[in-house]
Amino acid sequence: MKTIIFPASADSSKLASKYGYDEWLVSRFMQYVPDVERFLAKMDARPTHYIRVNTLKIEPENLAERLASKGFELRRTFLSEVFAILRAPFSVGATTEYLLGYYYVQDLGSCVPVDAMELDSGSDLVVMDMAAAPGGKTTFISQKMKNAGVVVALEPQEKRLRSLVFNLARCGVTNTCVYLMDGGRANDLKLKFDRVLLDAPCSCEGVIPKDMLRKTSHKPDDIDYCANRQKMLIEAAAELVKPGGLLIYSTCSFAPEENEMIVDWLLGRINNRAGGENKARNARIEPLPHGNSGLTSFGGYTFDDNLKNARRFYPHIDNTLGFFVAKIRIR
Ligand code: SAM
Repeated sequence: MKTIIFPASADSSKLASKYGYDEWLVSRFMQYVPDVERFLAKMDARPTHYIRVNTLKIEPENLAERLASKGFELRRTFLSEVFAILRAPFSVGATTEYLLGYYYVQDLGSCVPVDAMELDSGSDLVVMDMAAAPGGKTTFISQKMKNAGVVVALEPQEKRLRSLVFNLARCGVTNTCVYLMDGGRANDLKLKFDRVLLDAPCSCEGVIPKDMLRKTSHKPDDIDYCANRQKMLIEAAAELVKPGGLLIYSTCSFAPEENEMIVDWLLGRINNRAGGENKARNARIEPLPHGNSGLTSFGGYTFDDNLKNARRFYPHIDNTLGFFVAKIRIR
């Protein structure tokens, strides 16, 4: 499927020129982003920075006290491990506490996929993180598991794998095996997992507030390219899930072709496949408490109604970077 392009209008042209975007991108946002002008204005504002406390090493209250004594002002968020930074006297990546692995600098939206994984139960959970570097989510997974059970983390780029290994060491993670491996080959490991996270490589539309060049460097072909790879990866990811387990699919893109359309394609493949000998599997998206409902239609396509349980995070509504999360139970 090709990236869907809409005809330009006076409004899309005006907004694109006012906020410095290529028009095609704004006319797409106008199809599904609520209150699009406020959205575009917020994308131009400096994003709120967040830190996720590494509870393997320190309790949130203790870290908050230590950082407050250095002049940082923090505010709690809907996740108990995550603080918003309201005031920073200097870079939050330049403290002793950071070097000690007491926290990870990570957007609130980026923590939601791990929070959705139901890891608290699990000293004997077996977890796959299929696209892991630089490890923001892997380290959160391990902390949720209290360093018990086992995490398998894959990353095909050697340079990025090094940053993953560094972050695991800095955060004191000891329950994770790291493989230099393409996620599409994960089934070669011949293992099945209670939880699989596919934080998919994507076109990164959601990080425009951190990288304004993307307003014009981003092209429809990027979405096509990413969507093809995401289909290949999500199909492999679903195969890895034990019956009754969870597949969490996330991206930092707004594009429906990388989000709802990928998950809709997977649901179709799993739910409509002829079973034979009761082997049919079933996939359902479970609701999440935060964020905005997933789309159930886009560009003339209608998706499984269950997609409304997926979640979109928008800067102007959620004060996060852009994010998409679907929590898929596979039986
Ligand atoms: N989960 C990471 C975190 O929270 O820090 C961020 C992951 S980033 C969105 C996507 C990662 O997927 C990149 O490190 C990229 O190198 C990797 N990647 C690209 N192609 C891949 C593939 N075929 N299989 C697995 N990972 C892939």
